[in-house]
Amino acid sequence: MIQRKPFVAGNWKMNKTVAEGRELVAAMLTPLRGIAGVEKVLCPPFTSLPSVSVALAGTDIGVGAQNMHWEAKGAFTGELAPNMVKEFCGYVILGHSERRAYFGETDEGVNRKVHAAMKADLTPIVCIGETLEQYEAGLTAEVVARQMEAGLANIESAVASRIVVAYEPVWAIGTGKASSGENANGVVRQVIRSALSDLFDDTIAQAVRVLYGGSVTASNAPEFFSQPEIDGALVGGASLKPDEFVAIVKSSQQ
Ligand code: PEP
Repeated sequence: MIQRKPFVAGNWKMNKTVAEGRELVAAMLTPLRGIAGVEKVLCPPFTSLPSVSVALAGTDIGVGAQNMHWEAKGAFTGELAPNMVKEFCGYVILGHSERRAYFGETDEGVNRKVHAAMKADLTPIVCIGETLEQYEAGLTAEVVARQMEAGLANIESAVASRIVVAYEPVWAIGTGKASSGENANGVVRQVIRSALSDLFDDTIAQAVRVLYGGSVTASNAPEFFSQPEIDGALVGGASLKPDEFVAIVKSSQQ
């Protein structure tokens, strides 16, 4: 049995100025550093990447961006290239449902970004998940399988186990209505690991970390972390509350 190291990332979304971001990091740095055996990542907005990466230098807490472009450089006003992100980060969130919903991101675009992230030696946190409409229509498996297959198409097996997948049902994001642990575990087992096995092989399917995301709090986190197929969480709102985020990371320890 492959042991997968727990992984918890905080997605600050479009919150916190540089000064506020520094305060947030200062409020959680000491307790977070004390939590061993968990890969921990903070994903502030672009403007805070330099200061957060300085504050976290020399710690076991990583920094992630919330997006990037797939091209290396050029006329893409408002975008950041992978090597620019890499100056401050080891990780990048790709295909978040808010990017898909509000900025027209497609599975094909996400796939280009995953390739670009791998090439830049960034660890992609690839977000997938069905909308409420798709969930109610019983389309979860179909949608999630398609997002997996298209989003991770043509990635080389040799590097695939570095990818982190975040299963985030859109109906659970920022709504306070989290999935049940059992439901999320079922999607990860039946759809996500099975897609990983089809794309790569069983060993890689067992090695890739799969997170749950969607209204995770300190009180419901243990329900997710006790599921055998769920290896951690992508946390939005609760990552802006130091005590709450630290408690979530703590409860992910094996
Ligand atoms: C997210 O932003 O990925 C997320 C899961 O948000 P929240 O935890 O606020 O639902």
